[in-house]
Amino acid sequence: MARLACMRLRPRGPERGEELGVGALRSPPPARGDPLSDLQHLCHARVPPPPPEPWREQHAALLRGLAAGLAGKATAVACRALDLAWYSDGMSRLHLNVFRVDTISMHGASLLQAAAASLGGGPVAALGAGSALYALASLFNHSCDPCLDVQFPGNNALLTLRAARDVDAGEQLTISYVDVGAGVTQRQRSLHHAYGFRCRCARCVEEGAGSAGD
Ligand SMILES: [Zn+2]
Repeated sequence: MARLACMRLRPRGPERGEELGVGALRSPPPARGDPLSDLQHLCHARVPPPPPEPWREQHAALLRGLAAGLAGKATAVACRALDLAWYSDGMSRLHLNVFRVDTISMHGASLLQAAAASLGGGPVAALGAGSALYALASLFNHSCDPCLDVQFPGNNALLTLRAARDVDAGEQLTISYVDVGAGVTQRQRSLHHAYGFRCRCARCVEEGAGSAGD
């Protein structure tokens, strides 16, 4: 499966009523024609109701903003279309596709101090941590033995993809959605929890994914 940054956040579409749960999978139709429409099937992330409280607060703020900027009738129409379920769908898709971006703030701290703060989640780290969507990078499939590394070489949000190993001719370019240093069981748990699939990449098969207890 692929992450998907290419999202069309539409009001309550035909997918509503489908199984809820993070990563409810659908069989992808063949891609052809309008890429935005054809990739819609990849936007499968669903967070079970009720939505997290921060999302409820953000949605309420959105409606307040709409109410302040629209006439009364238009506000009612907007509020019906852009309801909490719509907002939750959109946020689910965003969370499915974002990359965590950690930059190290060097202001007033040594490199070692800044790196330690980043790992510990302290105030220095908070200055340089965030999330971002990348239209291309989010389309790469996952492998636990990826041929591409996701890097932020400029210590900013500019993402680069660099070959992590030799790539065979015709080999699919992949990235890892999880820590490749983790064991197979932890990787499988993380991927299923966050992305809704069980990885069957060559490394997982070799390491026994699908065996009892996995
Ligand atoms: Zn795998």
